[in-house]
Amino acid sequence: MSECAYKPACVVWELTLACNLKCLHCGSTSGGRRKTELSTAEALGLCGDLARTGCRGVALMGGEPFLRKDFFKIASRVRQLGMELSVITNGTIHSEEIFDNLKGLAPRAVAVSLDAARPELHDRIRGMDGAFKKSSAFIDRCLKEGLPVSVITTMHRLNIKELPGLRDLIKGRGIAWQVQTAGAEGGRFSKDLLLDAEEFYAVGLFVEACRREFSPEELPVIGAHDLGYNSGLLKNVSLYEKWEGCQAGTAVAGIRSNGDVLGCLAINDDKFVEGNVLTNSFYDIWNGPGSFRYTRGFRKEQAGGNCSACAHVETCKGGCNEMSLMKTGAIHNDPYCFFRLEKELFREDGRGIFAKKDLKPGAQPAAPALGRLARIFAGGRGKRE
Ligand code: SF4
Ligand code: SF4
Repeated sequence: MSECAYKPACVVWELTLACNLKCLHCGSTSGGRRKTELSTAEALGLCGDLARTGCRGVALMGGEPFLRKDFFKIASRVRQLGMELSVITNGTIHSEEIFDNLKGLAPRAVAVSLDAARPELHDRIRGMDGAFKKSSAFIDRCLKEGLPVSVITTMHRLNIKELPGLRDLIKGRGIAWQVQTAGAEGGRFSKDLLLDAEEFYAVGLFVEACRREFSPEELPVIGAHDLGYNSGLLKNVSLYEKWEGCQAGTAVAGIRSNGDVLGCLAINDDKFVEGNVLTNSFYDIWNGPGSFRYTRGFRKEQAGGNCSACAHVETCKGGCNEMSLMKTGAIHNDPYCFFRLEKELFREDGRGIFAKKDLKPGAQPAAPALGRLARIFAGGRGKRE
């Protein structure tokens, strides 16, 4: 098979669905292992196949990845094959072996989930008393060992007011912070807890405000893929200067613990499974001529009603496909991009939460706008000026 033009920069691999926590918002409703979890030999073989495909980095996650007894065998193989390693953990499983081995592997990032600055709320969201204390101790120990620590925070209505507290907890400690928003896929998550348009936009404003107030050294903070695009007010809040469309199947891929390959694990829908590594190699799935058509073969005619007439559609390709699918049942149709939201929030008739005059590309949001934003974070929703 000839190689395609795309190379996976990052493959996110759910090593196991087993988890010791019961997080409310968990998109894959982790808890028990999948019936057909890859064996150690299969997982090690997959590492070789990822390297052969030209994969630059692998992020091992779960469930809780440290529940796999062969975790360090697999992680070591990733590094031996010259790929970068990231680990995404809930931070509640500790041992000297874990910290020693992590240090030896020189990971690109050790990412720990932290959803609230108040221990009792984090524990409630994560479904385990004492989870905050354990995860915080894990972070402290990783920092002490000189490991590159990230914190991942998943936003929904229960914790949107926690953003300032988390910022204060994280800043100045050399921790990178990724803020993402919860999706509706998880079986334990009430849809009432999803952020609405104003709350969603407010998270973007918060990230931008942090970036203006603190240097990247003081507080390196980004929004995840589903947050942003073509704002008239904010810079791109994700890691990239400009959003160039969903990277599923072009630069990123996801692998489930049973070997299913998707463009992105956030798209938790079997319709988007491109193949299984027990049937076809990852190399063949990735390089298959018909693979990942929805991103590789995107044409603007495929965009949904939210995006089809947008001036950005050719580069943006309809925003985050996971968000689009969750909110509209179709891909390339993201209703929550900042370009669209600002049209609603900055309405000419003044009935949006901001006045149209506040909308100045790259400008600091006007003080009244920030005041209204502050009220959103303080739970004062529905009040308009
Ligand atoms: S409307 Fe669609 S294509 Fe336009 S910027 Fe938003 S997500 Fe992108
Ligand atoms: S579906 Fe969304 S989160 Fe997944 S790769 Fe595409 S943009 Fe990123």
